[in-house]
Amino acid sequence: MIDKKIRFKRDCMGCHGCMNICPEKCISMESDKEGFLYPKVDYDVCINCKKCVNICPMISKIKEDNKPLAYACINKNEKIRLESSSGGVFTLVAEHVLDSGGIVFGACFDYKFELEHKWVKTKEHLSKLRGSKYLQSKIGSSYSHAKHLLDLGLYVLFSGTPCQIAGLKSFLGWKKYDNLVTIDIICHGVPSPKVWGKYVKFREREANSSTQRIFFRRKDEGWKRYSVSFLFKNDTEYRKTLNEDLYMKAFLQDVCLRPSCYDCEFKGLNRHSDITLADFWGIENILPEMDDDKGISLIFVNSKAGEALIEKIAEKMLFKQVDINEAVKYNLAAIKSAAPNPNREKFFKELDKLAFDKLVKKYCSDNLSVRVKKRIKVLTKTVLTKLGLLDFIKRNVTIK
Ligand SMILES: Cc1cc2nc3c(=O)[nH]c(=O)nc-3n(C[C@H](O)[C@H](O)[C@H](O)COP(=O)(O)OP(=O)(O)OC[C@H]3O[C@@H](n4cnc5c(N)ncnc54)[C@H](O)[C@@H]3O)c2cc1C
Repeated sequence: MIDKKIRFKRDCMGCHGCMNICPEKCISMESDKEGFLYPKVDYDVCINCKKCVNICPMISKIKEDNKPLAYACINKNEKIRLESSSGGVFTLVAEHVLDSGGIVFGACFDYKFELEHKWVKTKEHLSKLRGSKYLQSKIGSSYSHAKHLLDLGLYVLFSGTPCQIAGLKSFLGWKKYDNLVTIDIICHGVPSPKVWGKYVKFREREANSSTQRIFFRRKDEGWKRYSVSFLFKNDTEYRKTLNEDLYMKAFLQDVCLRPSCYDCEFKGLNRHSDITLADFWGIENILPEMDDDKGISLIFVNSKAGEALIEKIAEKMLFKQVDINEAVKYNLAAIKSAAPNPNREKFFKELDKLAFDKLVKKYCSDNLSVRVKKRIKVLTKTVLTKLGLLDFIKRNVTIK
């Protein structure tokens, strides 16, 4: 049934809710040419119960009316904060849930570096969920798993993109569970898992090795100038900043996002989650005294359950309340969808034909201001090297 309701690709955000609810297990999620998953119904088995249609959050479009409060937050544990994408608040909430005997769901790489939602029940496994992975995570059967655990009375934290949280709530029939807390993120949009897979293969070919670990947000050069890093099994490392890395270029230039992300239904300040997490971009203008460039989270507390949780972890954080509208001015992804890149169609048409570097160079060239900045950087470096000043500056000058 549900596949007939998807007239356009943008009508499905791939939450897997329909697959999870189907009593006959006749819905599978299949990859399209771009690498995004969509439901496919086996009509020989379908009993036409319409459960899949009724729980689709893209069809029911339930709206919330909460009054979120916004905070700038830093996890006082510096090690965890540096391993996290922004201020490390996810880990604090997750640890609280685990300490209370609960279970935490989130996005986790498997051994092939494909991304899937998994659950953990110990702090030692939490590191697998920590950190942003910039591609769409496969929900699989995690909604059914979460429901099973909730019905057993276990405390469950489910984290994901805003559409994944809407999918879960809808799958649960919008029933209020006192033992469920949800975290969503401010989400720019999710790139195609196929594009990501091609990039991983490209990096492995360049390194002549398979991958051991991947970090999207290394903060060695600062949180604002974060780097993507691959550690390979042959003990080599690839590391490039967000402006130089080919995959981040494709992601940030909106050339490979899921079609539904360009008209996202789940943006705004009235969210389905209890807590929303994000990078506090613009902190230097709003609370410069908190900005040490090691990562700060912007959080929205959307519900009483979210408020109670934040109170529980408050002593482990440095935090300050901020005006939500002021904060959102620097993080428009909270309320506004990405605009489709005019090269998107051509990019996907050539995805299977061109090597990854050629594809990105062809369809994601830097805009003029980035090109000028890069040119100035190269020229400055060349002049300083010629004058013999580069090493001296590196050793003696800290640039703030
Ligand atoms: C695809 C994507 C786009 C984002 N876009 C923005 C943005 O435009 N602006 C902004 O301020 N912040 C954005 N974020 C959020 C930001 O990167 C951090 O995830 C957030 O600030 C939480 O950081 P943390 O330090 O508290 O925890 P971290 O430990 O860094 O975050 C871990 C949490 O992120 C979840 N997660 C990681 N990858 C995914 C994924 N692919 N799908 C679903 N959940 C995932 C994990 O399950 C876990 O809950 C985005 C994140 C993702 C994954």
